[in-house]
Amino acid sequence: MSFTLHGLAVSNGIAIGQAHLISQATLEVSHLVIAPRMVEKEVARFETALTHVRDEFKLLKVGKENSPTDIGAFIDLHMMILADPELSEVPKQIIRERRCNAEWAIVQQMEILVAQFEQIDDVYLRERSFDVRQVVERVVRELVGKPGHAAVKAPKGSKGENLIVVAHDLSPSDVMAFKDQHFSSFVTDVGGATSHTAILARGMGIPAVLGLHNARQLIRDKETLIVDGTRGVLIVNPDARILEEYALKKSQLEIERSKLKLLKTARATTLDRVKIELLANIEEPSDVAAVIESGADGVGLFRTEFIFLGRGDMPSEEEQYEAYRKTVKGMEGRPITIRTFDLGNDKNLHSDMGEDRKRDNPALGLRSIRLSLADPKSFQAQLRAILRVSKLGKVKILIPMLSHAHQVDQTLAALEQAKSSLRGEKIAFDEGIEIGGMIEVPAAALAVGLFLRRLNFISIGTNDLIQYTLAIDRSDEQVSNLYDPLHPAVLMLLEHIISSAEKAKIPVSMCGELAGDSHLTRLLLGMGLRQFSMYPAQIPEVKQKIKQSDISEITPIVRRILRLEESAKIQEQIERLNSNR
Ligand code: PEP
Ligand code: MG
Repeated sequence: MSFTLHGLAVSNGIAIGQAHLISQATLEVSHLVIAPRMVEKEVARFETALTHVRDEFKLLKVGKENSPTDIGAFIDLHMMILADPELSEVPKQIIRERRCNAEWAIVQQMEILVAQFEQIDDVYLRERSFDVRQVVERVVRELVGKPGHAAVKAPKGSKGENLIVVAHDLSPSDVMAFKDQHFSSFVTDVGGATSHTAILARGMGIPAVLGLHNARQLIRDKETLIVDGTRGVLIVNPDARILEEYALKKSQLEIERSKLKLLKTARATTLDRVKIELLANIEEPSDVAAVIESGADGVGLFRTEFIFLGRGDMPSEEEQYEAYRKTVKGMEGRPITIRTFDLGNDKNLHSDMGEDRKRDNPALGLRSIRLSLADPKSFQAQLRAILRVSKLGKVKILIPMLSHAHQVDQTLAALEQAKSSLRGEKIAFDEGIEIGGMIEVPAAALAVGLFLRRLNFISIGTNDLIQYTLAIDRSDEQVSNLYDPLHPAVLMLLEHIISSAEKAKIPVSMCGELAGDSHLTRLLLGMGLRQFSMYPAQIPEVKQKIKQSDISEITPIVRRILRLEESAKIQEQIERLNSNR
């Protein structure tokens, strides 16, 4: 059965390959023994979970009845499986007889049913065991409260190249884990366009579509998929004609990309000879090769926390020193801006991803610089490690998520403490190391003067700035339609930050996702931005745009755009701005 799903286009390009479904780990549930008085409560918990899943299926069906894709029939099948007494009644008996938890009971019953299906000769019927698993997985997810996160690995004996990961959700640490597996793409049911998961896909230069809602439920292992990451489309079991069409598009895209690579050694200079600095965003030392290959002038954002995600505890000074040393050495004298840990919210050292995310407002909680300042010992270890590598190259320090001036003052005091301890131990470091701050909270943007007076440079984190300005969780696909980088409020803040920095003669760069979007390059140039930091894969396209732009022509047009009050009009004018030349 061929069908098409639409989601969020988060990382450009086309991938053709086989579906590799993950998150079976959801089914690895613990076996708990329940006190006799709790047994009926456990049965009730099971019944509630079934009701919720049934309601979810009903919701999914809305509007799918007349769908040419048979998705409606598919959901009907899952509803039938869910209603079958083998899954809706037998687990209750298991809970009562064995005094066990509901998750364990339903998984036990599923194993029995799957084993029975696997004995059947008829291929169609045998394959229904997938459906049973998918339905049970959904019930288990409901019971445990949150979708589980599986270790993302290619199956034994196969390389990831032809595989497309299909998951309900992927945490940033899952995606980091599959950097080594070379999957050709991934698609998920949830996740916003500037979630860290999406950002990582762009960093790896692989196409990805997020927010597909029920892909994990509708797709089977090994089915053929086409991912069009530019349009946010996923085609399942395409026919031969569509496959051929996409194979052609894919090779045309590859040719265009390799042409752009020829710009590697060209300077990023505008037609009116303004030199623009193009820097790279990285997550780990091994990313340096791609940075050098892209022709970037340096690293504008090293998201250090990614090296240690999911490992369980804080890394020692030595571990950090080694990781930063490799990176600085690899950059062969080019400048590198190391950001202190931006942990918390969706980026955790614990692999269950969870504790922080379970709080009501994790994005507003104890995260990032707040967490570093609350844990002075760990903060000292990181600052000392960065200071020690500052002797090996041109290193700067970047502080994330500042909102209050006193956070800068405390950070500068912590830096002074780290410096003086190193001096005491006669360990060399760059005494003049520059320290900058990320402007990614509206308060810091509006009161940017407080930060400009205290710091050597600033860097605009548009991903969080947009999230906090518009009150949109950047990881939540349900509100992704409201995540609008061209909202007048966002543009006003950007303009205010850039012009204030210019007046104060303090360097300002942008390291959020907007910096790597070539459709916005001219807008940002016209606002006065001269330093852009993005994923290495995005550099050639942005460089090409810069080389075709004349700042003296663009600036008055951008001024007029900034006076507009509606995103749609702004978008229209940006398109016109881009179509010149
Ligand atoms: C940002 O918020 O724009 C940013 C660059 O930081 P991160 O995406 O890591 O939050
Ligand atoms: Mg941020």
